[in-house]
Amino acid sequence: MHAYKNEEFADLLNRADLLTADGIGVVYASKILKKPIKERAAGYDIARKVLEKINYTDHKLFLFGGKPGVAETAKKNLEKDYPDLNIVGMRNGYFKPEEEPEIVEEINNSDADIVFVCLGAPKQEQWIDRNAANLKARVAMGIGGSLDVFAGTAERAPEFFCNHGLEWLYRLYKEPWRIGRMMELPKFAATVVAKGKKYKQD
Ligand code: UDP
Repeated sequence: MHAYKNEEFADLLNRADLLTADGIGVVYASKILKKPIKERAAGYDIARKVLEKINYTDHKLFLFGGKPGVAETAKKNLEKDYPDLNIVGMRNGYFKPEEEPEIVEEINNSDADIVFVCLGAPKQEQWIDRNAANLKARVAMGIGGSLDVFAGTAERAPEFFCNHGLEWLYRLYKEPWRIGRMMELPKFAATVVAKGKKYKQD
């Protein structure tokens, strides 16, 4: 909805090398608009796949985002799950705009190839877009609250909710302050249905 209302943000998203359907709403929308996406691919699940792939390789990972201390705890937990993982740096996600060049320098000095950028949407997408050209890393992924889940400061919804397109409901129950953002969901559904009807007419 943010991209729908804000052309600049839509352009920014379209500049990305890879966009994935993090939420079930996008999957439903793709079907209504007759450009079906096969399944949901949540950032957290993609991050786990990347971790599996880079464990036992020389790839170096930087964890960026979350409240102070979260990335450090995430590192400890990830190293238990992936014993040969190369986490070469961490940085919390709270900073002033003028600190941005020094963050990029810190990431570059760490020699990381992959950066998990966990600042929440739309901050992380904007950060990646602004800094990608100056990053030596080949991959920067925006994966929202995943560091909190790796650190154990937030939980992923139980499998039932994830498998039935209901993760949003579980998150609303756990984080009721997200209600403002969740109220965009019915508006998103209505917009998609209206667009779908218009496509049919055209
Ligand atoms: N965050 C951050 N810097 C900020 C704002 C948020 O590092 O300026 C972190 C926050 O601590 C949390 C994550 O970004 O770990 C956002 O999580 P959320 O679950 O809201 O992300 P989303 O739903 O967008 O994936």
